[in-house]
Amino acid sequence: MTRTVSFCFDDGFRATADKVRALFDDRGLGTSFCVLARPDLAEDPFIRAAPIADWAYWREAAAAGHEVAPHGWAHERLGDLDTAAACAGLDRTLDTFAAELPGFDPGDQLFHLAYLAAPAPVIRHLGERTLGVRRAVGRAGLNPPGRRDLGGDVDCITFGDPAGDLMTARLDRFLDAEAGWLVLVLHGLDSEGWGPVPGPTLERQLDRLLDAGVRIVPAGQAARERL
Ligand SMILES: [Zn+2]
Repeated sequence: MTRTVSFCFDDGFRATADKVRALFDDRGLGTSFCVLARPDLAEDPFIRAAPIADWAYWREAAAAGHEVAPHGWAHERLGDLDTAAACAGLDRTLDTFAAELPGFDPGDQLFHLAYLAAPAPVIRHLGERTLGVRRAVGRAGLNPPGRRDLGGDVDCITFGDPAGDLMTARLDRFLDAEAGWLVLVLHGLDSEGWGPVPGPTLERQLDRLLDAGVRIVPAGQAARERL
């Protein structure tokens, strides 16, 4: 029974990205950085509180084998906008990614929703333009084994404080009793972002998963493998 875990690092925190890349690169693993088209315009206090990496950084991370995937324009709550404005902002986001990242094709990547949620018409719009939409579907981040339709939903889970302990408990449950693909959404390490995870906790859990024979792959890669 092959089991897969994807780690998504949302919001693009620069110091976190450096640490994450070191941990994953040391183990020959790729991961997903889910970033904003215009983080400089974000009003979310956690994003405003820490340096965010720029496009040159993300081009280099992508060239080194990591996924750099869309997370939105400026971290709006899409449910607060009317549908046309929300969809226009998401289209602008995908256009920005295509302009900034060589080889970026929206149809080949998941869209990672800010706050893990959007109204149904917005999700449908994104589903038509991208490989799928990562959001909180309600299965605690677990995507069961088997086929997934194009444009489908990818479930994910994230953790508030104490995020390291909560993530470890979620992985306990996965390793004890579950099969399929688990998608974990983290923000920053140590002191950055909402629900930060201590770097040593992430490192221990990566090694534990590898020891247990679990595959660790970027979320978009795992989604493409399921088509
Ligand atoms: Zn976010």
